[in-house]
Amino acid sequence: MNKKQPVTLHSYHKTTHRYQKLKVCNHCRQYTMIPDEPCPHCGKERLISIEEKAAQQANRATAVHVLLLILIALAGVLFGQTFLQMSLAAAAGIAAVAVYVLIQQRVKHFYAMKELGKLIARDEERIVEGVFRNWEQAIELWKTEPVRTYEMLREISTLQRSEMIRIQQVALLNTFILRKDMEIELEPLMLRHFEPMLAELIGELAKVKRSAIKERAIKYVSKYEIEVLEMEQGEQILSHVVGAAVRMKPYVASNPNFIARYARYLPKDRFLRLYNMLSLSPSAEWGHLADEVFRIYKERYQWDADFQSGSKGL
Ligand SMILES: [Zn+2]
Repeated sequence: MNKKQPVTLHSYHKTTHRYQKLKVCNHCRQYTMIPDEPCPHCGKERLISIEEKAAQQANRATAVHVLLLILIALAGVLFGQTFLQMSLAAAAGIAAVAVYVLIQQRVKHFYAMKELGKLIARDEERIVEGVFRNWEQAIELWKTEPVRTYEMLREISTLQRSEMIRIQQVALLNTFILRKDMEIELEPLMLRHFEPMLAELIGELAKVKRSAIKERAIKYVSKYEIEVLEMEQGEQILSHVVGAAVRMKPYVASNPNFIARYARYLPKDRFLRLYNMLSLSPSAEWGHLADEVFRIYKERYQWDADFQSGSKGL
């Protein structure tokens, strides 16, 4: 196995909508998802967000409409027979522009959203090209700047939701020394099929950052329990995941049999947590788990002072 590298990962900026990660070059109109860099296509520093681009287009359309209204009013003034007709045409023109601008101000957001929809539909091919260009660039940096590759893939995967890009991120994370303070989310990396690298990553995170282990990761390793057990560190991976799962009651409640199978491998602090959880809410839903926990308690911790407070429930 390769030696793991100590790394520093930049934080990932989450957006409300996935498309908000897209930037477009105001020079060559190509798209990119990599922040804080010049346009990867033409090299110019002319990138703006896709939302700004849509707003720009909406403003341009408004300007064209205002210009048309002014021209119509001017035509009215020019072709007016009397001074009264001319002033009426000018007044009507000014009023029309004022009303139009006022309405536009009110519906600005709606209008910009409509332009955004049009922009995405029209530039779909260019967006796909841009995302693939970013992906290629990320892979080119793999050997020399793996952290940069990982961070780029993390950005791209917001839109490019393929299993391949997830596997690449998982493979890279397994070459880093992971720490508790790192912002790593497993949810966007979950795969549909069994992948030993993902099981390894889940096991590592269960060890160093328990809060990263949530329902889907627990379900993943329990679904592929046999395959994980065939791995070199399989038993440790499953024990660490169970150790992380006892953090929350719902995780224990929805996987009692899986937890029961690895409860005996838990270190004392994790087992105590599980023991207290079951003692405080004795219920039929624990099933076999309650028997197993009681058995381990009897065998190892019966005389342990830490276990005395909640021992009557089981
Ligand atoms: Zn460009």
